[in-house]
Amino acid sequence: MNLQEVEHHLGRLVKGSVLCMESMQKHTSWRIGGPAEIMVLPASADDIGQCLQFARERHIPLTVMGNGSNLLVKDNGIRGIVLKISRGFNKIVVSGPNITAEAGALVPLVAKKAAEAGLSGLEFAAGIPASIGGAVIMNAGAHGQGIDEVIREVTVLTPAGEMLVLKKEDIGFRYRKSGIDKNLIILQADFVLTPGDPLEIRAKNETNLIKRRRSQPLEYPSAGSVFANPPGQWAGWLIEQVGGKGMRVGDALVSEKHANFIVNVGRATAEDVLQLIAQIKQKVFEKFNIELKLEVQVVGE
Ligand SMILES: Cc1cc2nc3c(=O)[nH]c(=O)nc-3n(C[C@H](O)[C@H](O)[C@H](O)COP(=O)(O)OP(=O)(O)OC[C@H]3O[C@@H](n4cnc5c(N)ncnc54)[C@H](O)[C@@H]3O)c2cc1C
Repeated sequence: MNLQEVEHHLGRLVKGSVLCMESMQKHTSWRIGGPAEIMVLPASADDIGQCLQFARERHIPLTVMGNGSNLLVKDNGIRGIVLKISRGFNKIVVSGPNITAEAGALVPLVAKKAAEAGLSGLEFAAGIPASIGGAVIMNAGAHGQGIDEVIREVTVLTPAGEMLVLKKEDIGFRYRKSGIDKNLIILQADFVLTPGDPLEIRAKNETNLIKRRRSQPLEYPSAGSVFANPPGQWAGWLIEQVGGKGMRVGDALVSEKHANFIVNVGRATAEDVLQLIAQIKQKVFEKFNIELKLEVQVVGE
């Protein structure tokens, strides 16, 4: 089956959109990456199921993504189908102290809704540019807190198309990681929050956003922290100590504001970023004997 046929068949199966040779620069916060051969933007859980089944039956590789804020897509793009779970599958429902959010809902919007409803617990997440699905997979966190602290359960779709509800205790959350099998697709997350004063919660959200604007180079495309913090260390501090700030390959630059951010100051390629990553890792290893591990995920060819 050629790409046009895949696009045509999928277009008939799903209510959402199907795009062919879609540039991943439009779908990643780094604004980097070659094309996705086929991209599906699902409008429902049924669309996700249809897409999964279609890919499985035809042995077409399937890559799931959320808001693309933690992805480095290589310059030759992604083969097969990219299932981008975002707008179109983003309902947020507040009920008492609980919030249920579909995987494509943006975390800052869920935090805003929580504040409006007078529910505390998601203030730390106000500025994390993640989808709920991506935030759960990465156990996104900030200001000493993680999404795992407020999760009650997560609904996933198995490769066989079965829906499963995973209780928080069974998810195996760790620092910037969850134990969710990579073959499972997150459909929604249920949060349990604590009633509080809406004005205070909103003020905390705002304070966290201000801190973020002060410490992060938000004026340039990036993917947030490139490296995970090694146990008991700050990756940004280690990079700063080896003179990493200002290191540059092509248009990929280590930010002067935050050494763990590589920013795209123009037309950086994935190759530029990967070379810069290799140089930083080498310098940190030579000086500290510490092997930095990537927090961003590298996908594609
Ligand atoms: C400016 C900036 C600031 C940031 N600040 C923070 C921060 O403070 N704290 C923090 O933790 N992170 C931060 N990040 C990184 C990023 O926002 C998080 O890693 C986030 O959790 C990624 O979510 P996403 O929806 O963009 O996922 P993507 O980048 O699209 O995908 C990340 C991973 O999740 C998987 N995935 C996504 N959705 C699903 C789904 N529905 N089902 C199954 N798998 C899925 C993908 O396959 C991939 O492996 C920042 C990024 C930027 C650009």
